[in-house]
Amino acid sequence: MNVVDSSAWLEYFAGGPNAEEFEAPVKDHESLVVPTIILFEVFKRVRLQRDTESALRAVSQMKRGQVVDLGADLAVAAAELSAEARLPLADSVILAVGERADLSFLPEGVRSENGLISIDPWGRTTLPGFFAGGDAATGQGYVSQAIASGKKTALAIDRYLQGRAENPEEDQREIVRLDKINLDYFHPQKRAGTFSLGVNQRSGKFTEVHKGLSPSRAKSEAERCFSCGNCIQCNVCLMVCPDVAVSFLAEEKKYLIDYDHCKGCGICAVECPRSAMKLEEEKWNE
Ligand SMILES: Cc1cc2nc3c(=O)[nH]c(=O)nc-3n(C[C@H](O)[C@H](O)[C@H](O)COP(=O)(O)OP(=O)(O)OC[C@H]3O[C@@H](n4cnc5c(N)ncnc54)[C@H](O)[C@@H]3O)c2cc1C
Ligand code: SF4
Ligand code: SF4
Repeated sequence: MNVVDSSAWLEYFAGGPNAEEFEAPVKDHESLVVPTIILFEVFKRVRLQRDTESALRAVSQMKRGQVVDLGADLAVAAAELSAEARLPLADSVILAVGERADLSFLPEGVRSENGLISIDPWGRTTLPGFFAGGDAATGQGYVSQAIASGKKTALAIDRYLQGRAENPEEDQREIVRLDKINLDYFHPQKRAGTFSLGVNQRSGKFTEVHKGLSPSRAKSEAERCFSCGNCIQCNVCLMVCPDVAVSFLAEEKKYLIDYDHCKGCGICAVECPRSAMKLEEEKWNE
């Protein structure tokens, strides 16, 4: 049994980009079920967009399926069912469900619970050397959380491969907030706006509604990043040091402070645009 939704009928009649997908259920008259509410919606839309003759032609094609009248009995039965099951009123339902991960491949020693791979906050499973992250382990169900989980797990994997057994939590660096960013080094740049289709352009189509960013806008948006707390090798510290105590080791791609010449003025740390440098008191007794 196939119920073809109004928007699918309209796509089919309009010969839109997805029309082919609906051809089979529309032509399979044996299995086709047409609720009267869909006849109403399709007739009205075709009548508004074309003319009465086209709308009548569309409806006569739809009536080749089994038309289900929304009579008093059916309406009451539907209302009863919807009250009992606490269903909202809808003329179509789009099935969009996530699936559970098949964990049968997991090696012995990797524990799972309630269909999720058991991990600690750093993605470490119960088997040393085995890590997991994302929906299959956290079950959180959002892209942002899957990315965060992947990042934490990657940090733990990196640490494991370096043979460092300590808890990765020790790696957590101070979070650099906006008040620590030296804004004098950045030009104000407005957030790139995105474009969305108007209501009239949306209805009756499967066109993407929120258009997102173009490649060039996405690039300029990424360039607004302050890189808070992360050195991007801008050389500011090297240039501002009055004692030429900062040098860049090209091969190792890192900066070196010459403590024999550094007088501890702190200019480098203050000037660093993204607070990637910190001035700390030297501890003589260590
Ligand atoms: C219909 C739907 C709509 C959603 N909408 C949103 C939304 O609007 N916003 C949002 O933030 N999140 C949304 N989500 C959730 C989001 O998609 C997930 O949280 C996210 O994709 C999880 O990322 P992941 O990398 O953990 O897993 P997945 O994206 O599922 O990636 C797992 C990958 O592993 C592969 N794989 C599986 N088993 C094996 C194996 N044995 N060997 C090798 N590869 C394997 C799979 O093929 C898949 O490519 C939606 C999910 C669904 C189902
Ligand atoms: S420490 Fe700061 S100032 Fe120095 S190179 Fe890195 S980002 Fe630039
Ligand atoms: S503290 Fe002062 S002297 Fe030392 S490296 Fe930074 S800028 Fe140079």
